[in-house]
Amino acid sequence: MIRLADIVQPTVSQPQTERIALTAIVNTALCVGAGGSSGSLADKPILKNAEGRLVIPASQLKGRLRHECEKLVRALGWPVCESPSAQKMCPQRAGLSETEENEFHRASYQLRPGPGQSHGDYQHHCLVCQLFGNPSLPARLQFSDLVCTEPEESIPEVLRPGVSINRRRRTAEEQKLYFLETSPANAGLRFEGALQLQPPWATINEANEAPNEAAFPFEKALILTGLKHIYALGGGKSAGLGWLTWEIRHDETTVPEEAWARLGNGAKSPDKTESGNPKEGTL
Ligand SMILES: [Zn+2]
Repeated sequence: MIRLADIVQPTVSQPQTERIALTAIVNTALCVGAGGSSGSLADKPILKNAEGRLVIPASQLKGRLRHECEKLVRALGWPVCESPSAQKMCPQRAGLSETEENEFHRASYQLRPGPGQSHGDYQHHCLVCQLFGNPSLPARLQFSDLVCTEPEESIPEVLRPGVSINRRRRTAEEQKLYFLETSPANAGLRFEGALQLQPPWATINEANEAPNEAAFPFEKALILTGLKHIYALGGGKSAGLGWLTWEIRHDETTVPEEAWARLGNGAKSPDKTESGNPKEGTL
């Protein structure tokens, strides 16, 4: 008799999709508007899902996080392409000088074609593109909407009046009174969602076509630091709306020490060489 448990399974380490649970605690009134929806007296009603729960859309979180990550990575000395224009993003990067373009030619940016991957010409993609994708590379990070844990009934409708200001005359515009719908202020509402992190792209070692050791697990360090820089979401942030704090479970915040070190060392990254011939990715 053949027992399934006895069959020796080849120990292929299946890369797994990782889930990072995220909670945003919104401390001030939140104004994530849904233009054009009806059923409210407000000019800009608040966004709700089919169950009537308040929602911070995934697209908004993704856009903000990408922006924060770009700033961080650039500040650490890594070359980053210019989103959101497709021509200026990896792998095209139109308008760069030769010196600037050469900065992108490093081993940890060069993707290796693999199963289900089609980077046949060994294109270079910056760290941000490797995570958030671009028109020619799928994103490794998938975002869910952040959904409020409080049911619709327990959240009163709050309308905030506002008036358009004429910047030149510094006076209120006539006939320009408007109403924003927001969540109640100081309610500490919890919005829960998650990020899905796909396995990393393989990068190339030109010498032996083996996965390159220059690749390093930078993604969590980048995501967590980027999130900490998002202090508010939605409209009216400068007017104090949508200020929030993040709650991320402790076990999800463990980032290997090596990742912090390599990420913080971008400008003099070990995989960057003049000859374009990547060295071993040691520190
Ligand atoms: Zn890029």
